[in-house]
Amino acid sequence: MSDLPHEPFMRRAIELAANVPDFPFGAVIVDRTTGEIVAEGWNKTSVNPTWHGEIDAINRLAERGAKINGRQLVLYTTAEPCPMCTGAILWSGIEIVVYGTSIRRLQSLGWRQIDILADEVVRRSPTWKCEVIGGILEHDCSALFQAAKPSQTVPNRTLFDFATAGGWHNVNDDVMGGISEGRCNISDRQTLEFFGNISLENRGGFASVRTVAKELGLALGDTLVVKVRGDGREYSLNLYLKKSKVAFAYRATVPTTKDEWIELKLPLASFEANSFGKPVRGAGPVDPTEINALGFLISDKQAGPFQLEVESIRVQRS
Ligand SMILES: [Zn+2]
Repeated sequence: MSDLPHEPFMRRAIELAANVPDFPFGAVIVDRTTGEIVAEGWNKTSVNPTWHGEIDAINRLAERGAKINGRQLVLYTTAEPCPMCTGAILWSGIEIVVYGTSIRRLQSLGWRQIDILADEVVRRSPTWKCEVIGGILEHDCSALFQAAKPSQTVPNRTLFDFATAGGWHNVNDDVMGGISEGRCNISDRQTLEFFGNISLENRGGFASVRTVAKELGLALGDTLVVKVRGDGREYSLNLYLKKSKVAFAYRATVPTTKDEWIELKLPLASFEANSFGKPVRGAGPVDPTEINALGFLISDKQAGPFQLEVESIRVQRS
């Protein structure tokens, strides 16, 4: 029986999570050859800070003295395993892990999380094999974490820094027939440099750099804090949505002072809907859960060179 029905086991994990309503992390280990539950666990961090639900289930299985054959096992957990637990799952040889709520969703609900997803831990562990399956009974699991109102809310987190390159790309007015040129680069100072030349010819006049689409975990009431150094020209920070129409984004103005580092606080509620460079009336405020990319844009109707440097983009939670 290699294709277990996931939902009944996730339901059991949810039942176990009810043992700790404030930290509703429950876990179940199942023998996939028989469909038998071989161990159960839940969060016991009130006793020991490393005693996560998954660790509890793995320890209980080990305590039974049975030889653990991970290839036969599936671990179900109400939330995506943290890097510590994903490590423990790999070291146990468990080859399938199934979760309900994602780390990104936990972050958006204000839960403190190490910002490394389970998939990445697995990918960086080349001698192990583990399939990560997410989103099983996600709604039910997320409801537990929403109701728990975490005591460990995050006032501040880094959304982007530039210690590593990648993930940013240019979109310039050549998509509309213009000839402006914008490029980006990660500097030795680990900042993002966005630079180029704006041309107003062919009814063009903009250049932008933006992130690849991914879940950002933003929530209502969040403020984006950006630290930039510019050339005195005016830029904007754009928020792109999962279902964005072409040339549609929510925008906030990013003024700069030549050669000076400034920090700007931009509440999500202050971003305005914009399409083809014009405000969209009646679009309403941005839905933070729909934002999956952001970028910087220059379109200040002046021809000539530009240069913007970005040190970090952080999220301040109210
Ligand atoms: Zn964990």
